[in-house]
Amino acid sequence: MPEGTTRTTVLMDPFPIYLSHGAGCRVWDVDDQVFIDAINNFTAMIHGHAHPDLVAAAMAQLRLGSAFGAATESEIELAELLIGRLPSADHIRFTNSGTEAVMMAIKAARAATGRAKIVKIEGAYHGSYDASEVSLDSTPDNWGTGQAAANAYAHGTPAGVVHDVIVVPFNDLDALHAVLEAQGAEIAGVLIDPMPNRAGLIPARADYIHGLCDAVHAVGGLVIFDEVITFRLGMSGAQGLWQATPDITVLGKIIGGGFPVGAVAGRAEVMEVFARRGGRAPVPHGGTFNANPVTMRAGIASMNALTGDEIDRINRMGDDLRDGICRAFEAAGLPGTCVGRGSLLRLHFTEKPVTDYRSVYPDAQARDRLKRFHLGLVNRGVLIGANGLMALSTAMSVEDANAVLDAARDTLNEIAQCG
Ligand code: PMP
Repeated sequence: MPEGTTRTTVLMDPFPIYLSHGAGCRVWDVDDQVFIDAINNFTAMIHGHAHPDLVAAAMAQLRLGSAFGAATESEIELAELLIGRLPSADHIRFTNSGTEAVMMAIKAARAATGRAKIVKIEGAYHGSYDASEVSLDSTPDNWGTGQAAANAYAHGTPAGVVHDVIVVPFNDLDALHAVLEAQGAEIAGVLIDPMPNRAGLIPARADYIHGLCDAVHAVGGLVIFDEVITFRLGMSGAQGLWQATPDITVLGKIIGGGFPVGAVAGRAEVMEVFARRGGRAPVPHGGTFNANPVTMRAGIASMNALTGDEIDRINRMGDDLRDGICRAFEAAGLPGTCVGRGSLLRLHFTEKPVTDYRSVYPDAQARDRLKRFHLGLVNRGVLIGANGLMALSTAMSVEDANAVLDAARDTLNEIAQCG
């Protein structure tokens, strides 16, 4: 395996961590060192590791068979649970990853509108489909003088892909209006994560989200919410908190109970593109492991365990941890902040107000500090994302969250002392 793993996200210097097992909010590496898990497979493991209900649900299904060349009742049950939580969606289909679900959402928007172009936020991550990767790694060297740049991410991305993606800065309604005015009739949809992690994990302003939905609809385009990570924030995900009604919602991570999953959900008229009309569906959608019953059963258990009270509890823990880290920055005399909402948090080593991707783009010093922060936490027995992302789980107690705060405080003090 190039660089020794199958996942860019888990690479780190001096070497990636190899885990052997997990229980609750703790994980053990192959050298038997224990960590508090504050990344939880990049937000997916909302109940931590080996949650008894999820294990029981998956094991029971494994004994009955793990995947069939036919539908099972389990997908109906999970579909009903998810549609019950999402007032904006009438129908849903399952995939094996968020990447695939975003891809199907884009194809659905294109088929439903008969238009090709997709608008996305600069720096926002939506998985590794060509179109959704555009601008993911804009840098001061290539972002030019405009407000946002449509740069290909993977080398070799066809120019035609980039041509059909328009990139806009986050939280900037004027920039969006300008794009819609110029190219509105060609736009199939706007793909937006209301709190895009890679673009900074800065919550969208409510007026921005509402203005965006109105403006996109006014030109006949569709609003696609990527709630792969934000769905955990409330019973109806971010759209419930922001009181927005997207046409299409993309889900993933927590809805699979720890197994590979994605889903695309939406209004009936839009989702009709996946249905056969006489001949074949406008957007055919196959997949050997789509809605496999192990994922579905674990997903049902995951959603049932994720009650409103549990969401509130981990959101409160997240709010307290975020406040604590902001205070620790101040106490250490280091420029920086902790942003996010509820159980999702991210640190930035910057003095500037954080508003969008460019405002959090790290300079050499910030990059170095973030790297030291990440390693400092690992060395103190806390796992977080290398980009400073943290995602809490229902397996955590306040004591566990306080232990994360202690490790963060110590590390920030250490960084401040070393300059
Ligand atoms: N959208 C968002 C917002 C994500 O965070 C991710 C994964 N981190 C994806 C899409 C892609 O999901 P997956 O890794 O399951 O393909």
